[in-house]
Amino acid sequence: MSRTSLDELLSSRDWLLADGATGTNYFQLGLMSGDAPELWNIDHPDRVRTVHRSFIEAGSDIILTNSFGCNRYRLKLHDAEDRVAELNNLAASLARQEADASDRPVLVAGSMGPTGEIFEPVGTLSMDAGREAFAEQAAALKEGGADVLWIETISSVEELTAATEGAGTAGLPVIGTMSFDTNGRTMMGLTPKDFGEITRSLQVGLAGIGANCGTGASEMVATVLGITEARPDAIVVAKGNCGIPKYVDGHIHYDGTPELMADYARLARDAGVRIIGGCCGTTAVHLKAMRAALQAHTPGAKPSVEAIEQRLGSVSDLAHGRDVAAEAAASDDRRSRRRRRA
Ligand SMILES: [Zn+2]
Repeated sequence: MSRTSLDELLSSRDWLLADGATGTNYFQLGLMSGDAPELWNIDHPDRVRTVHRSFIEAGSDIILTNSFGCNRYRLKLHDAEDRVAELNNLAASLARQEADASDRPVLVAGSMGPTGEIFEPVGTLSMDAGREAFAEQAAALKEGGADVLWIETISSVEELTAATEGAGTAGLPVIGTMSFDTNGRTMMGLTPKDFGEITRSLQVGLAGIGANCGTGASEMVATVLGITEARPDAIVVAKGNCGIPKYVDGHIHYDGTPELMADYARLARDAGVRIIGGCCGTTAVHLKAMRAALQAHTPGAKPSVEAIEQRLGSVSDLAHGRDVAAEAAASDDRRSRRRRRA
């Protein structure tokens, strides 16, 4: 199949199906906790391709490369910080080969996760150094055959800025998603609406914005409601986890069924999402059910928070419009004022 572009695919259909989990599917194939999945691009390219192929066969229109932790800071933990170009190039070319072998057009998205460092002024990583690391990764993903750069699991404005500007140097469309995994906010405190607003003023215009991972399918739909509210004009992406992680027989198991993920896909469409996929725990079996659901679904009105809870499970107080963190801060403030008066 000849190569397509994100624009072309988006104009051909109202929704696109992204792919499933990398980590949890690799664990099934023998990845050990603590191993760098990115080293499989060299050690087990056949397994990397098998997972890509299973997603394409299940109906994914977009597959993400095995390069989430493939920046120099994350690779340093595995003494591989000087192999950024090699590993990203390989990651993209393995996905490219599977995409090209499909009889449908499939896009290769170059996955770019966080550095794991904290940016200045709170931490030590400078904006320039961060930008440079992301640019280095982006260039190699492009060279290996990525169609799009896909920044994911970001939690701070600083890292979002560095990642988008670094990725922007490669000249490919850039998608940016954050993880809202802390009572409806990112670990660094951003709400979905904050994120939507921030994307308006980034130097690099994003081809898609959204959320990934987080705390389950229900919270994901509530999260994207916040993003689509702030940015009704944007192409919005949802890549939610396959239910909630549970510890079963010594390993982590995600409790989402194919039926739950199908319902999640329908609700995400109703919420205005154009690109829908799964994160941790999502297998080809779930994706197949999601694709069938999307194909048969006529989007309805935006779901209420109550409807989301009824169909998928509970959501955070923030999604209910109760900002517990702000209320706690305000009551701390009142307490300290009282103390000062006393
Ligand atoms: Zn995840």
